[in-house]
Amino acid sequence: MNDTCIFCRIARSDLPTFKLFEDDLVLAFLDLHPIREGHALIISKQHYPWFEDLPEPVAARIMSTGQRLARAMKGEWGVERVAFFFTGIHVGQTHAHVVPMLHRYDVTSVRYLEDGVEEFSLPPKPEDAALAQTADRIRTQLARAD
Ligand SMILES: [Zn+2]
Repeated sequence: MNDTCIFCRIARSDLPTFKLFEDDLVLAFLDLHPIREGHALIISKQHYPWFEDLPEPVAARIMSTGQRLARAMKGEWGVERVAFFFTGIHVGQTHAHVVPMLHRYDVTSVRYLEDGVEEFSLPPKPEDAALAQTADRIRTQLARAD
């Protein structure tokens, strides 16, 4: 627990939320600044700054909670897909965003929007050799981590 972390305060019920689900490991609640209606956040009850440091049971619970929320959102809003992502920009505690996608650009990068919001620009495709090199760099790092 961290007294300066807003999500730790939410996890111990010091701050009100629009709670969607809670169990021993995670808490899901509405984002107060939604991309779309229903935009939810899932946090772990313990403070982990980075998703890659989550213990596997906590990470799995966040994912399964996201799956349940996604099914609920599809039922409620009739959307084809629900986005699930981590960015970690606004609060320094791991939180997953779950967003019903009403528009294909609802969850995107400015790199996709270079031609404006009504177009969908694909970033340039690197040469195959460059992609192979990138894959090799990641595989090398993965092997180093094993
Ligand atoms: Zn925290």
